Amino acid sequence: TMYEVEPLQHCLQRVKALVEAEAIRLGFQLEYLPYPKPLPVWMDQDKLIQVLINIVKNAFEAMEPGGKVTICNMVEHGQAIIDITDEGKGIPEDKLDEIFLPFYTTKDQGTGLGLSICHRIVLDHKGSMEVFSELGKGTTFRVKLPIHAESA
Ligand code: ADP
Ligand code: MG
Repeated sequence: TMYEVEPLQHCLQRVKALVEAEAIRLGFQLEYLPYPKPLPVWMDQDKLIQVLINIVKNAFEAMEPGGKVTICNMVEHGQAIIDITDEGKGIPEDKLDEIFLPFYTTKDQGTGLGLSICHRIVLDHKGSMEVFSELGKGTTFRVKLPIHAESA
């Protein structure tokens, strides 16, 4: 694996293709809202795909059949934003600080490693992660990545 400047949409398109069959199998809707102009981002594409698939899998594990996951791509303050929003059970406010810690899990078969690894990879990309959640309504994981200025 290696770093290259690539349009973020290539990565998001691949993520969508990779999770689509499972979404259908589990009875979920999947929506992808790409940003209309190519967003060049310095990335290790395989690693970034791993991050986003992890977030989508967590979303699937938090929802009942019929729920929807939206992958929305936009630009804010010169950064590329990827919001992955689910209609799952949500995360209690007092746990929002713990979910990124290694081995924090609420699942019988969980490792609790997914989000800590995701966070590490996003930091390696000079990016950041945020989470917004409302109990009983759903959760949004936001990944922010610098837009590669020279090729924008
Ligand atoms: P694991 O999936 O093995 O439990 P993660 O690091 O991926 O480990 O996630 C840690 C915990 O964060 C989960 O066990 C769950 O409690 C919470 N979590 C993560 N994503 C979501 C989500 N989309 N909705 C609700 N809870 C979530
Ligand atoms: Mg997980």
